[in-house]
Amino acid sequence: MQQGGSERELAARWEAEAVAAAEAQAAMKEARVGVEAGAAGEPEPAAGEEQPKAPERPHAAEEGDARTGPPALPLSKPKPAPARGLGPHGKPRGKGREPRPVTVDSSKARTSLEALKISIRQLKWKEFPFGRRLPCDIYWHGVSFHDNDIFCGQVNKFPGMTEMVRKITLSRAVRIMQNLFPEEYNFYPRSWILPDEFQLFVAQVQMVKNGDPSWKPTFIVKPDGGCQGDGIYLIKDPSDIRLAGTLRSRPAVVQEYICKPLLIDKLKFDIRLYVLLKSLEPLEIYIAKDGLSRFCTEPYQEPNSQNLHRVFMHLTNYSLNVHSSNFVHSDNTSTGSKRTFSSILCRLSSKGVDIKKVWSDIISLVIKTVIALTPELKVFYQSDIPTGRPGPTCFQILGFDILLMKNLKPMLLEVNANPSMRIEHEHELSPGVFENVPSLVDEEVKVAVIRDTLRLMDPLKKKRENQSQQLEKSPAEKENPLDHELAGAPDTNPEAHLPSICLKQVFPKYAKQFNYLRLVDRMANLFIRFLGIKGTMKLGPTGFRTFIRNCKLSSSNLSMAAVDILYIDITRRWNSMTLDQRDSGMCLQAFVEAFFFLAQRKFKMLPLHEQVASLIDLCEYHLSLLDEKRLVCRQSGIVGGRSLHSIPHQDACSPSQANGAEKFSHPRPTLS
Ligand code: ADP
Repeated sequence: MQQGGSERELAARWEAEAVAAAEAQAAMKEARVGVEAGAAGEPEPAAGEEQPKAPERPHAAEEGDARTGPPALPLSKPKPAPARGLGPHGKPRGKGREPRPVTVDSSKARTSLEALKISIRQLKWKEFPFGRRLPCDIYWHGVSFHDNDIFCGQVNKFPGMTEMVRKITLSRAVRIMQNLFPEEYNFYPRSWILPDEFQLFVAQVQMVKNGDPSWKPTFIVKPDGGCQGDGIYLIKDPSDIRLAGTLRSRPAVVQEYICKPLLIDKLKFDIRLYVLLKSLEPLEIYIAKDGLSRFCTEPYQEPNSQNLHRVFMHLTNYSLNVHSSNFVHSDNTSTGSKRTFSSILCRLSSKGVDIKKVWSDIISLVIKTVIALTPELKVFYQSDIPTGRPGPTCFQILGFDILLMKNLKPMLLEVNANPSMRIEHEHELSPGVFENVPSLVDEEVKVAVIRDTLRLMDPLKKKRENQSQQLEKSPAEKENPLDHELAGAPDTNPEAHLPSICLKQVFPKYAKQFNYLRLVDRMANLFIRFLGIKGTMKLGPTGFRTFIRNCKLSSSNLSMAAVDILYIDITRRWNSMTLDQRDSGMCLQAFVEAFFFLAQRKFKMLPLHEQVASLIDLCEYHLSLLDEKRLVCRQSGIVGGRSLHSIPHQDACSPSQANGAEKFSHPRPTLS
């Protein structure tokens, strides 16, 4: 791993900031006790009600919000609120200059609604709980990008994310990276996809056993698309897999079981970390400084044939363990069956563990995993939101499930596209009768994550910052500060009452250390360029031929007939494996396989990642020449005797360039 010392420094800073943020959150929580009482009676606008656009003044609902908004916080001394329509000095504000609140459509928020409402109130933004006819700035979806038809603003889901993090898709995406960079991607347990790779699984296990007869592995079988521990079981031998019936209809992943997890109070636990994918192009990743630790409810023993079935011992899922009589709901964030991750780190630190190293390994795991996921996400993105068409921009909070091994190495278990943002739990009053009870640990972590995600996505922030910068520069304002207030300029930082942001940027901050891993991303750019018709996710035979031709990959060693056979072979195999049979053609993973094949043929003797990198360089080089040539032709108005309108889109302009992606301009790569 090529990690710099700066990553360590960051981890150190986090530690200090995490403590400060935790204190601030505790203070806010106290302050919120009064908030909750009023929240229940909060009036909401009628469904479909059209709201006036800027400048938006509070309506009855907002007044309700204002009354129930967070009271003065101990972090900063707030000024007394001015009367409506008046500036802070009792002077009328300049009409039309009042900064409007950011608007959030929460009508599809589902189980994240409570945490979202609290966040919006803390930010003093405006919520539209029943949606709005006019566009909102932000749309908060509980499940998927497609929950609403949106054409502008920002939405908290990426198209295709749910598909990307399914167990099989994630395993495939990580495996591609493991093939290229085995050392860097050793944080994901060895996995096989069932039923397709059952024979391979049997053969590989047998091979390792032959080499090391003392190896007594355990495997965990997880149904694809399952969650909350549903359908999961442990086995000691491949022959124990329940192959009949269900596996055909419900494929699964079988994975090496991590037998030596780190234990606390003799219990196995995992970590739920919240990661914000702020943007795909350019890639921007943030990690929350605190997460949750979910504990098993039965003391851990290494798996043996007697205890394999004991879910409370081996599976850390909250949804399972909450049914154990040993489950402890606690008001304290550092005790009980669900705790904050920071409380675990504190405890480890007190025992002398180097928690900076733990953080730095976790950051690295997160960045590498996102790098594995983004290539296919880009394919989904361009299919749903083609360049040049109106569409929202996307961001998403992901839930990373991580297990710390006894030696403190973090291992990735899975990624959740829709991590639970519920901040209450069910309490059984009498058999079958439940009530929802607030869960302090959930509230502390999740409200901060949602609120600070919103702060980072705030569409008006830039505008406000620019405005205040301009005013700072204005000499008139310096001479007469009152004029400045009369103009309605923001006189205080609207975030002054909030704790520092709990989400820390890790990419592009550490881009230098990790960019060399982004080979598949560059392959995805090539793939997208040749997809041709917008909206599709699969490459047709003509697109593949054009790719070969434009990148000058055919030769006496690789005829176009051989290219066609390569296309048919790989495409057919992938289409028989993948669940999505809607489109015919070559999917990105099949293209990656074909690309590996071509790279190995062309650049023999090098390690795979160097072969692939060399071929990408070569393709990008030829395409950049082509683009330059076309630019010249366009400027002269004619292309090879044809008018510009007759040029197929994929030949005329690269979508990756239209997207604002880096323009290829490479020196000619050396060929072996
Ligand atoms: P689900 O989506 O159903 O929760 P997970 O992949 O998160 O599926 O697995 C459920 C639980 O099983 C995890 O929370 C963890 O406690 C345990 N687990 C999963 N994979 C492994 C593994 N490879 N080694 C050890 N424990 C695992």
